[in-house]
Amino acid sequence: MNARTPHSVGANPDVLLRAGRPARSRTSGFLAALALALALAFALPDLALAEEADNNVIDPAQRADNSFIYDTTIESLFEQASLYDNRTVQIVGEVVGDRIETNNGTGNCWVMLTSMDEDNSNSISVLLSAEQANQIDHYGRYGVTGTTLQVRGIYHQACGEHDGLPDLHAANSSVLAKGIEHPDLLEPVNFLPGIALILLGLGLVGAYMFARERMR
Ligand SMILES: [Zn+2]
Repeated sequence: MNARTPHSVGANPDVLLRAGRPARSRTSGFLAALALALALAFALPDLALAEEADNNVIDPAQRADNSFIYDTTIESLFEQASLYDNRTVQIVGEVVGDRIETNNGTGNCWVMLTSMDEDNSNSISVLLSAEQANQIDHYGRYGVTGTTLQVRGIYHQACGEHDGLPDLHAANSSVLAKGIEHPDLLEPVNFLPGIALILLGLGLVGAYMFARERMR
């Protein structure tokens, strides 16, 4: 709210005129006083607001706000790439593959974030700072579920800085779930059908050879 609304005392010429003029009668004097009192009553909240507004510091260095955040998914980034192009998006995915350091001395690195939807294998390259990447405890591969990472940053359908490939430049990242290792457990019971088939095969070979010997 602006401090200079028509309610403030100085901005109401009507009130000033009436108050400044010699009162013609008691009634007009009373009306003028009433008007002044009303004007003051309306002006006070405005003054309070004006003080509050002073505390709301404007930062001229702040960039224009195009940062409407799309809370979306990796699938959607591919399905509606042009909608999200150059927008701030927030996605959740599993970190897979390896961390690849950029060679430009910034310490930034690339990780692959893959869709959490089991029926969908889309993945996106995410540019993270080294600090952000250090949050990752597991990189997904066979037998390992990678860290579940939530990343907020700018999505590029075809990044001009990075060979025209789709990517996401992360501003924030947070770990939603740690990775898990799934060591292959050798269950002897699982081998029984295989062993049975091998024995059956050997038995058949033996029977065949026996029968052939008898044929001679
Ligand atoms: Zn890029």
